[in-house]
Amino acid sequence: MKPHVLILGGTSEATALARKCADMGISGIVSFAGRVDRPVRQPLPQRVGGFGGAPGLATYLADARITHVIDATHPFAAQMSRNAIAACELAGLPLGALTRPAWAQEQGDRWQNVPDIASAVLALERPAARVMLAVGRMHLAEFTPNPQHFYLLRLVDPPKTALPFPNTQAIISRGPFTHSDDLALMRDHEIDIVVSKNSGGTGAYAKITAARTLKLPVIMIARPQLPERTMLGSPDEVLAWVGHCETDRGV
Ligand code: NAP
Repeated sequence: MKPHVLILGGTSEATALARKCADMGISGIVSFAGRVDRPVRQPLPQRVGGFGGAPGLATYLADARITHVIDATHPFAAQMSRNAIAACELAGLPLGALTRPAWAQEQGDRWQNVPDIASAVLALERPAARVMLAVGRMHLAEFTPNPQHFYLLRLVDPPKTALPFPNTQAIISRGPFTHSDDLALMRDHEIDIVVSKNSGGTGAYAKITAARTLKLPVIMIARPQLPERTMLGSPDEVLAWVGHCETDRGV
């Protein structure tokens, strides 16, 4: 049976993998949650929306005759990643995770490492400051316990409902972002503190280097812990893994 891969997407890594698969003539589907209005166009067919938990995904895998699942979701998309593990177990399919390494603190960085979003909220229990809150639209409401701050947000789409802070500004922009742009943004808005997920990769790293240049503290939220998976570091590694799985199965 020829490989027919499901790429769980929503990241630049997923798009790069889809490009590689298309170039190599490997068929597959890229899946999006549907969180943004206009997902980046993919070089493979795409589908949008949740599967209905792990059982729903297992059913989808069988119906779509998927042979391999590649979890290329964002490192903070933990629910989807857990569902993929469970669904692949149910379906008896190989699962690989294409994940970027976490950012590591460098000289000049002033990070306060926190284990999760709730701890980042607690770390903001302090007198009013000007905060660049780079955690994504879905988590904004969790930061409402500290309404004393000004929050600078960066969102992919214009918000459809009122923002949950009395003093806030949303910049509508899709990465990748540059160091000079983020430096100017932080200077223009007189930012005192940056709150960031440890997303890894290059597209969102500019705010970290800009904070370093401006000697600003960064509340850095660690990635959620996930069960052990086959970790793949690049689209080439994914393609090699797909090939090995085929050999292992004798097909
Ligand atoms: P999540 O909390 O792990 O997932 C919640 C639910 O959304 C999942 O159970 C699943 O619904 C659905 N879902 C998530 N990713 C999906 C995908 N690629 N295809 C189909 N359904 C998906 O996910 P999240 O953190 O909200 O992230 C959603 C998407 O945005 C992901 O594709 C991720 O790569 C991308 N993204 C996330 C972040 C972030 O910081 N979290 C940043 C950039 C991009 P069902 O249970 O119904 O299947």
